[in-house]
Amino acid sequence: MSKRKIYVYSNETEVSKKTADLLKKKLEQSCFEVPGEYDEEAELIVVIGGDGAFLQAVHLFNFPHIPFIGINTGHLGFFQEINPEQLDEFIFNYKNNKYTLQPMTTVKGVLGLETGDINLKGLNEIVIRNEEMHSIHLNLSIGGSFIERFSGDGIIVSTAAGSTAYNYSLGGSIVDPRLQMLQVTPIAPMNTTAYRCFTSSILVPSDLDLSIMPETGTKSVIVAVDGESRTYTGLKNIDICVSNTVVNLLRFEGYDFWNKVKTKFL
Ligand code: NAP
Ligand code: MN
Repeated sequence: MSKRKIYVYSNETEVSKKTADLLKKKLEQSCFEVPGEYDEEAELIVVIGGDGAFLQAVHLFNFPHIPFIGINTGHLGFFQEINPEQLDEFIFNYKNNKYTLQPMTTVKGVLGLETGDINLKGLNEIVIRNEEMHSIHLNLSIGGSFIERFSGDGIIVSTAAGSTAYNYSLGGSIVDPRLQMLQVTPIAPMNTTAYRCFTSSILVPSDLDLSIMPETGTKSVIVAVDGESRTYTGLKNIDICVSNTVVNLLRFEGYDFWNKVKTKFL
């Protein structure tokens, strides 16, 4: 019988690389194979680093069906479940199936450009914002109904998983990942007699599509997905909805979302 494969992905910090070497040794001693390159036949992907490394891995391997587990060597490590001191415990629990899978919904965007469409997928969020210091005007529709003409720096559309990231810094709400929704949060909305738009987040159920249309005359906008940004000119609109793709994270006994929120934020 061929060995069960576990792929180990690590960022470039010394502590991550050391942890990866040690983990590989321990996994091999426990009769797992650790392939040298990403292998779609792996049953698990271990990501060593912080949340940034986790997001990187999700994109690099193109939102795979294979579940992830994170080892935190970064700063915050909200996605990351275990510490570098817990490798033996992790292998023991994994081998004995003492875990559950936490499914995380993702967000999909279709950018309508004059040259054609571009598809985007994010685990945390999609951000649409001004390129320069001038305000940007964005027409927002939800479920086919026009909602508002937004004026300010931009709009972010966050998943539940992303609610504790940029969304939270903008005053958005923390969302339990068991909820299926998207959160639309304004970035520096203007509210004057000249411009009026919502100043709070809007929660949209997963069966409604969003459409954001930069006002005619907008030269260029920045679109960022999970922290990776690009500038687009000639963006006609962007359609955003909950994607069918789910990212699964291993969670071990004792994991509780709200407890994690408390320990990481308060
Ligand atoms: P980064 O600038 O290093 O990330 C900023 C912080 O966000 C890091 O502490 C990171 O954790 C944390 N983080 C990422 N995803 C999170 C999540 N789902 N819940 C709670 N915290 C999370 O860039 P990065 O590490 O590549 O992460 C990209 C993300 O940064 C973007 O998706 C966006 O949400 C966020 N961001 C936040 C702000 C802001 O709050 N003002 C501005 C830009 C981007 P680690 O320390 O473990 O990496
Ligand atoms: Mn980071």
